[in-house]
Amino acid sequence: MEKRELICIGCPMGCPLTVELEGKEVVSVTGHTCKRGEVYARKEVLSPTRIVTSTVKVEGGKADMVSVKTKEDIPKDKIFQCVKALKGITVKAPVHIGDVIVPNVADTGVDIVATKEA
Ligand code: SF4
Repeated sequence: MEKRELICIGCPMGCPLTVELEGKEVVSVTGHTCKRGEVYARKEVLSPTRIVTSTVKVEGGKADMVSVKTKEDIPKDKIFQCVKALKGITVKAPVHIGDVIVPNVADTGVDIVATKEA
């Protein structure tokens, strides 16, 4: 049986979690204070995902850069490709919150959207 130790990122309490795995099956989760911790632990060991945040250049805007993020979580193993896809991107002002900057980034089905006006 494999044992994985994690820190829950669901809230600032950062509960230490222990997950026991039998092959690709979660046998038990302990250490969580609330249900969110258990859900996080199961997802983290079976199919970890993350929101990716970054910035891209803006042409003709109020600022030179605008912050962007994936609209939803993407698989952790796609983060590098996602960051790479954002390199060298320049958008034209005006940029509004929620504007799609890169559709379907790294073939994840998730868009990169602006999180600020520029
Ligand atoms: S298990 Fe619950 S209380 Fe503990 S860090 Fe995660 S979200 Fe917060």
